[in-house]
Amino acid sequence: MAQDTIVQEFCEMVRLDSPPRREGAFAEIIRQKLAELGIEAQYDGAGVRLGGDCDNLIARLAANAEGFPVVMLNAHLDTVGPSAGIEPVVEEDIVRSRGETVLGADCKAGIVIILEALRRLQQHGLAHGELVLVFTVAEEVGLLGARHLDYDALEPLPAMGYVLDGGHQPGKLTTAAPYADEIDCTIRGRAAHAGVEPEKGISAIQAASRAISQMRLGRIDGETTANVGTIDGGQARNIVPETAKIEAEARSHDEEKLREQTAHMTDILQREAVEYGATAQMRQARTYNGFHLDPEEPVVARAGAAARQVDLEPVLHKGEGGSDANIFNEHGIPSAVLATGAGQPHTLEEYLHIPSLLQCLQWLLAIVTTK
Ligand SMILES: [Zn+2]
Repeated sequence: MAQDTIVQEFCEMVRLDSPPRREGAFAEIIRQKLAELGIEAQYDGAGVRLGGDCDNLIARLAANAEGFPVVMLNAHLDTVGPSAGIEPVVEEDIVRSRGETVLGADCKAGIVIILEALRRLQQHGLAHGELVLVFTVAEEVGLLGARHLDYDALEPLPAMGYVLDGGHQPGKLTTAAPYADEIDCTIRGRAAHAGVEPEKGISAIQAASRAISQMRLGRIDGETTANVGTIDGGQARNIVPETAKIEAEARSHDEEKLREQTAHMTDILQREAVEYGATAQMRQARTYNGFHLDPEEPVVARAGAAARQVDLEPVLHKGEGGSDANIFNEHGIPSAVLATGAGQPHTLEEYLHIPSLLQCLQWLLAIVTTK
């Protein structure tokens, strides 16, 4: 398949809208494309568990040679919004959207690379080990597909996994991701008429702002960040606000530091609410666990060696966000994230750099054909 055909396939894919939990039609196309290669894919039943119209899609390509580890390849089927009516525009080396939507290269660049790699393995009769192909749903709304994946269907677990969801630069390999916590807090004070009897009221908004103003937020240290992302409260201009709701998060590559930062934020919310005569109701949860892969680990070493084979400089990158790799690592499949040639994800400026996509394809081929 020539470069033009790959770009054409990518453009066809992004025109098919596949928002989280509504990937069904798109997944079916991928299932058919795999079937054309003689690869039978199965749905895993995760859709009902996560409230979507589509399951994760799992397939296996048997080894045609000995001495290779079992390798999992993954990309997610869903894209963030706005994604309705994506119209890709190809300008020389770059594909962009028309500007009113994202492009959807996150993660359809990864899907195109995996499919094209499978085609080339077959066309050129390249020796490879067993490949486990996992196309996940609902990644963008909390890694739900990977969380609800039927891991029994992957048994025996692949020795390693590659998640094709890692940004522009060919050779860039994300080998670490932070732990993350989320905090929802509802501060409840007392409503009162703001003009007639304000002294009877307790302003939940003021209690919340006093707490937030005392928090360490932003970049806490080299490994840790924190943010209050939303605040929502009050009913009307002339009513002392009874409630204020806050959504906050903290991330750290160091789990202990994350614990401290989360405790710092929840303690201040509790303390300031009480001090102000209000109450704070807290929901705190681990959004995802982080991971850290050493350079010597086979999943990292293999990708590094493969990059050099195709004249790419491997760059080990410490990620700042979550991806399905966080969940796969948690489930005992050491997984790293590969670049795909896509940039500016989750924005209207999202793009795909075609020469980089092709380099990432060569890189993936080297990864699965290296002994
Ligand atoms: Zn993604």
